[in-house]
Amino acid sequence: SSAAQQGSGAAPTGSGEAPGEARLTVLAGPTAVGKGTVAAEIRERFPDVWISVSATTRKARPGEQHGVHYLFVSDEEFDRMIADGELLEWAVVHKAARYGTPKQPVLDKLADGRPALLEIDLQGARQVRETMPEAHFVFLAPPSWDELVRRLVGRGTETAEERERRLETAVLELAAEKEFDVTIVNASVREAADQLVKLIRSPNISGKS
Ligand code: 5GP
Repeated sequence: SSAAQQGSGAAPTGSGEAPGEARLTVLAGPTAVGKGTVAAEIRERFPDVWISVSATTRKARPGEQHGVHYLFVSDEEFDRMIADGELLEWAVVHKAARYGTPKQPVLDKLADGRPALLEIDLQGARQVRETMPEAHFVFLAPPSWDELVRRLVGRGTETAEERERRLETAVLELAAEKEFDVTIVNASVREAADQLVKLIRSPNISGKS
């Protein structure tokens, strides 16, 4: 699918910026680029920014809490959420597990005038662009390919086979940058978080930077 009109630098016009209605920002980017780390930094330093808690069928990693990092659900529960139309988007990520964004909390926050952030994969970002085109789409890019590989290996949470699969996905994901409104290079987590929060709070994005 090549609905890449926004990649040309044209800002999405108008909608989503009515008084009292806050902005939805979607952060995507290749595996291991540090989306989760940037989201954690924002959670800590900018508590007024609400970050969606995704449902997932994968197992919790050490230190991850149900309801904070993810809603860890069974396959059956995930099926039910899909069937009941509770998910704004969902995808199978790295051929390993399903992840999805519960819809109602997002709509509630925006209606309350609270900026909302989704940290999701590329497939999910494309779905949100179909259903909520007024959202702003931010691509988090690594400083370089070598650095991306280093981060993926350094994290040490995946097996070699999983890593290989994620790198294959990452090649495709990097090519999707042009579909996004804005790119932020994640050289420093602190600076990337600052830039992202500025975008989340600004009334307008005037094309790629
Ligand atoms: P991890 O398993 O490392 O926490 O996350 C794996 C991938 O799933 C990341 O790229 C993350 O952005 C993505 N992800 C997390 N939550 C969601 C979601 O709700 N929807 C989609 N489509 N992807 C998600």
